[in-house]
Amino acid sequence: MREEARRLFLPCPNWSLIKGKWIWDNIRDCKAKVNWHRLIWFPAHIPKFSLVSWMVILDRLPTKDRLVWFGLDIDNVCGLCGSGIESRDHLFAECPFAKEVWGIVLIACDIRYDLNSWGDIFNWLIVNLKGKSIRVRIVKLAWTGLLYFVWEERNHRLFRGSTRSVDVVVNSIKEAVRVKLCRLGCPRIEDVNSHLYLNWGLY
Ligand SMILES: [Zn+2]
Repeated sequence: MREEARRLFLPCPNWSLIKGKWIWDNIRDCKAKVNWHRLIWFPAHIPKFSLVSWMVILDRLPTKDRLVWFGLDIDNVCGLCGSGIESRDHLFAECPFAKEVWGIVLIACDIRYDLNSWGDIFNWLIVNLKGKSIRVRIVKLAWTGLLYFVWEERNHRLFRGSTRSVDVVVNSIKEAVRVKLCRLGCPRIEDVNSHLYLNWGLY
């Protein structure tokens, strides 16, 4: 470790430059930004939502299909609907529980589309959630909130034996979005989007 540290600092001619940012820039692999980073890392993001969403997008959560692939002797049935195979794509897009939650969120955002697969929904979000409008901010917070609360609900059912309804999960998402946006200073109400403010309690 000492030798690795010596090699890290050797190229730096000026010790006064060695601060947190310099070390961070030099120890990580710099790769091109992915086209979805703004979906989860944006000024009003909620850290715990974004962290779980990041792991969902990378398919790194310990969903049952992955645990079985790793050799665990468990069933692979989705704990939310009891019928599908628990995978990233099922749990966060195809599962009737997640679909119902997301459907209610979309109606509250005044968005209509007919997409059912993880890939199609993800691509739609990448293409359509651009800019800083109130609708874009709400949908980003709500979608990352959906991923967070669906994963939390899966864990509560699996490990605690407790169950929340679709309405309770939707209300948790709405409350988190409302608190976050109001804490940043409730946005000015515009007539064109007044129903959005009403749907999300932003007044
Ligand atoms: Zn399911």
